[in-house]
Amino acid sequence: MSCGFDLGHYRELLEAAKSGGYRWAGFDRPPEAGDLLLRHDVDLSLAAAVALAEVEAEAGAWSTWFLMTRSVFYNLGSAEGERAVGRLRELGGRIAHHAVWPDVDLDERFEPVVAWHNPEPEYVFEPIPGAQNVMAAPFFDRDHYRSDSNQHWRHGCPHEALARGDFEWLQLLAHPEIWVYDGETMGETMRSFLDADRDARLEHLREDRIELE
Ligand SMILES: [Zn+2]
Ligand SMILES: [Zn+2]
Repeated sequence: MSCGFDLGHYRELLEAAKSGGYRWAGFDRPPEAGDLLLRHDVDLSLAAAVALAEVEAEAGAWSTWFLMTRSVFYNLGSAEGERAVGRLRELGGRIAHHAVWPDVDLDERFEPVVAWHNPEPEYVFEPIPGAQNVMAAPFFDRDHYRSDSNQHWRHGCPHEALARGDFEWLQLLAHPEIWVYDGETMGETMRSFLDADRDARLEHLREDRIELE
């Protein structure tokens, strides 16, 4: 099994978690032994989030989607944004907030759970008034956390450890764009994302009755 950042290996990761005996869990109660808290910070693309959610649903998995209200890349208030959130919910996903410090925009769309985008060490682990910080107790400590940031697992891909049931419980952060768009490196993957985004924006221009000929 090769540990690429693609949908094939994402499916294998989910299967590994199942064979390790883990159960899917969210951030509504403290983690228990055997829980896998699958977390997604959606930085760039709701389309990638929905694509990954479809893969999870096929595997019988679900997760918590942390969505931005201040992204320069997507708009939750657009028709497309509302459709994407609806589809994530339909597929069994939960919706929480990926916030840009210091602004927390929790409203009725979100569970009261926050993951900071690109946090600085000064506040990453600090409590947040009125919300649960995913990087604070009881949801975070170093032994129960793995992240795919920039296509780099700091402790190696966790699929083998999951299959063996090595983690008592785990918060696993996966960025959907990394798995959905092709690329051996983060730079290549980002260029694949930009190609797809350009096509999607051309489609929006057509829908806006912009003449493109
Ligand atoms: Zn792997
Ligand atoms: Zn982020």
